[in-house]
Amino acid sequence: MKFTSTRNPKLETGVTEALEAGLAPDGGLYVPAALPRFDAGALRTGISLPECATQVLAPFFDGSMLAGRLDAICREALNLPLPIEPLETTERDAPAWMMELFHGPTAAFKDFAARFLARSLGALRSESSPPSTVLVATSGDTGAAVAAAFHGQPGFRVVILYPEGRVSGRQAHQLGAFGDNVHAFRVEGSFDDCQRLAKQALGDPKMVERHGLTSANSISIGRLLPQISYYALAAVRLRSPEPLDVIVPTGNLGNALACILARDMGFPIRRVYLATNANRTLPEYFAGADYRGRAGLRTLANAMDVGDPSNFERLAWFYRDTNPRDVGIHAESIDDEAIKSCIRREYEMHGRIVCPHTACALELLSRLRADGHRQPALVAATAHPAKFETVIEPIIGREIALPPALEELLKRPSHAEPMAPELGALARVLE
Ligand SMILES: *Cc1c(COP(=O)(O)O)cnc(C)c1O
Repeated sequence: MKFTSTRNPKLETGVTEALEAGLAPDGGLYVPAALPRFDAGALRTGISLPECATQVLAPFFDGSMLAGRLDAICREALNLPLPIEPLETTERDAPAWMMELFHGPTAAFKDFAARFLARSLGALRSESSPPSTVLVATSGDTGAAVAAAFHGQPGFRVVILYPEGRVSGRQAHQLGAFGDNVHAFRVEGSFDDCQRLAKQALGDPKMVERHGLTSANSISIGRLLPQISYYALAAVRLRSPEPLDVIVPTGNLGNALACILARDMGFPIRRVYLATNANRTLPEYFAGADYRGRAGLRTLANAMDVGDPSNFERLAWFYRDTNPRDVGIHAESIDDEAIKSCIRREYEMHGRIVCPHTACALELLSRLRADGHRQPALVAATAHPAKFETVIEPIIGREIALPPALEELLKRPSHAEPMAPELGALARVLE
């Protein structure tokens, strides 16, 4: 399979080059030149995620150096629990389920794709490869997932940039707790400053060459592709008589785009609903306005505080011959008040504790049902609530138990160096 840039169809490359580069040389994002079709009926209902991913991703890796390793990469990277639990429904409603994507080492869905990317890049190294530096700007969850995925992996070091005081206490502790080949820097600035620094460094050929810089942010095609597999698995496992509608908490549009691709590859999914927080760029676009990227607003669902979703460029590319607004994608904004009341309602009515991001999706489902929506539905749950205890505990009035992996990480000492929001400061710490 060939990959091209969203900005230039003539710029063609293989999947391994696309994985290693992160961003295309013209500043565009890498996309598969064509979307393979898949016969969903050919997969067994009881198939495991690694098996499902190996089959679904095979066409993308066909003819590449990784084709023969894909099976092992998926087995090592994607062997995480993936419960799909029924949600309570009224008699008139069609069934609904919640897919818990937060049982990996850092308790958010980003573990799946970060681990896949780390194993893939690791498999591409040889004895003689120079060391690589994975540079990652994070507003919280990405940095931890990438750090956990590359921690202890020979030939790689990880440099994390996060905005001081803008991530939760537990998120900050987590970022500094890995040690070894993982270095955390608390930048005196905003997430946008961190992202700008990472982009500047990755766009500077001298710095890239000197440090073997590579990106693990959601612009990487290696973060997008593996996410297709859990939507494929859910659609196959649930064997719903009617296609599923899927509701995905959305920020940079990586997770939801993977769901859209799973549908377009042939899995029985009907509509994809993007549940955003108070950042309304996507809801306004899907309601008919021109696309207008802007600065992100701070909300309770902080991992989705994105005003200019990077994967929108990929979505526009996939639907360049039609209109993304006409292909069964809907978006709705859920504000902080609605997030809080959803967290309270879920706890009081069902004893279920959900993170603020997952709450956006559950709130959207309940609005859809109230409007007469009768399709079987799947909600993606993106993080464990214990990561956002400062938001949730005051609402539900009790402590949230930590999952074991997170507890272990939070017991370790944590260290992050301060850093000024300037390229010179980044260049110095890379040395
Ligand atoms: C990153 C993140 C999101 C947003 O995912 P995108 O792929 O950026 O749309 C949602 N929820 C949680 C918990 C996250 O960490």
